[in-house]
Amino acid sequence: MAGPSPQADPRAELRELAPWQRPLRADFPIVAANPELAYLDSAATGQKPRQVLDAVYTYLTTSNANAGRGSYPWANATTALVAGAAERVREFLGDRSAKAEAGAGAGRGAAGPSSVHFTGGTTEGLRTVARDWLPQLLRDGDEIVVPFGDHRANLDPWLEARDLLAARGVRIAVRELPCQAGTGDYDARALAALAGPRTRFVAATHVHHVYGADMNVHRIREAVGPDVPICLDAAQSVGHQPVSAADLDVDFLVFSGHKALALPGTGAVWARGERGPAFRPGGWAGTPNTAGIASLAAALDWLEAAGVERIARWTAALASVLTDGLSRMPAYEVLGCRSSLAAGTAVQRRGSIVTFRHQGIGSQDLGFILFSHGFMVRSDDHCQAGRDPRDGSVRVSLHVYNTLEEMEKLLTALAKLQ
Ligand code: PLP
Repeated sequence: MAGPSPQADPRAELRELAPWQRPLRADFPIVAANPELAYLDSAATGQKPRQVLDAVYTYLTTSNANAGRGSYPWANATTALVAGAAERVREFLGDRSAKAEAGAGAGRGAAGPSSVHFTGGTTEGLRTVARDWLPQLLRDGDEIVVPFGDHRANLDPWLEARDLLAARGVRIAVRELPCQAGTGDYDARALAALAGPRTRFVAATHVHHVYGADMNVHRIREAVGPDVPICLDAAQSVGHQPVSAADLDVDFLVFSGHKALALPGTGAVWARGERGPAFRPGGWAGTPNTAGIASLAAALDWLEAAGVERIARWTAALASVLTDGLSRMPAYEVLGCRSSLAAGTAVQRRGSIVTFRHQGIGSQDLGFILFSHGFMVRSDDHCQAGRDPRDGSVRVSLHVYNTLEEMEKLLTALAKLQ
C-alpha cells in the first residue's frame, strides 16, 4: 500500500494535525523528561509510550509465567496473551482472514491460512524464513531475487541459505532485484524481464531505511506473476504507515516490534501460508519473550488508537519541511528519491526518513556536532548492504513524538554549519 499523497504545504498540514499530535507526544515519558533533546533515530528503534510500559508492568505483576506450558491460571493467562498478541498482529497487518479465523493460526507455526511467529526483530525474522522455509522450496537450478542495496538483514540470510543449499549439492542462483538509476526505486519492468520459469522467490523491502522511500512493492506481484512467494522486510513501515499484507499480496511480512514502539527484542514474522511449503519455524523454540509480546500487543493498540494514517501524514510533513530546507542549502546533499519527490507522486515518496551528507564535514563529525545541539541522529553506513562502512551519511528518522519546532531548530543548526 502506498502512503498518503504528499501535501502541498507541509506546515499547514502540521498546524492542522498539531492538536491531535500534542497529547500523543505527552504519552512518551522519555520524551517528556528530556525537552531539550530531540530523538531523531526512530528508524533504529522507537520510543515507548506509557501505555506500553504499563502493559508490561501489569503483565509482570499480575500473571507472569511461561507460555504453552503449565495449566495454572498465570500460565493459562500467559498462553492466552501470546495467542491474543498473534491475533492482534494479524489484524494490524490487514490480514483479512484474521477475524474469520480468530483463535486459529495464532502462535508459533500453527496450521491455518496465516500464522504469526514472534522473533527478536526483523533480522531474526528474515533469517528464520531463509533458514527454516526457503530451502524446502528450492531445487537445483532454481533462482531467487533479492535486494542488494537495502538493509543487510535482507541480504545476508538469503546468501546464507544459498551456501547451505550448495553444501547439500543444490545450486541456486541469487539475482539482484533491479533498481532504477537515480530514484533507487525497484524497477518492476526490469524485474519482469529477469523473472523466468526458475524464479521461485523474491525478497523486497517496503520502505528503504536510508532513503525513506516507499519502494512500490505492490508492483512486484505484477512483475513476477501469481505463483512466486514474496517476502517483505517491513521494518520501516509497520507502525509508521498503514500496511496491508492483503493489498501488497505478499507471503511473508517481517517487522521489528521495537521500531513500532514495543520493547527492545521484539518482532514478528507474519506468514500467509498459501504459496510454497508451510512455514514451520524449526526446532524447539524455548521460552518466548512474553513481556515483549505483551508490549507489542499494547503498542499496536496504541498505534491504532492514535491513527497510523495520521502518524504517516505527520512524519511525512516533518520530513518535507526538512528536505525543503536542506534543498535550499547547497552544502548538503539529500540521498535518494529526489526526482520522485519533485514529481510529487503518491508512490515512491519519502515517509519518515531523511538522509543527507555535508560536502565538507564528515558524517560522524556532523553527528557529534548535532548532538552537541541536542539532536540524536544516526551517522554511519546504516547497515546498508554493499556500502563501505566509511561511506557514511546522517540519517534523521521521525515518529509521532517529533515536532515542527525540532525540524526548524535542526535546520537552523544545519544552516550555521554551511
Ligand atoms: N530491515 C530494515 C529495513 C531495517 O531498517 C532494520 C533495522 O534497522 C532491519 C531490517 C533490522 O531490524 P532489527 O534490528 O530489528 O533486526
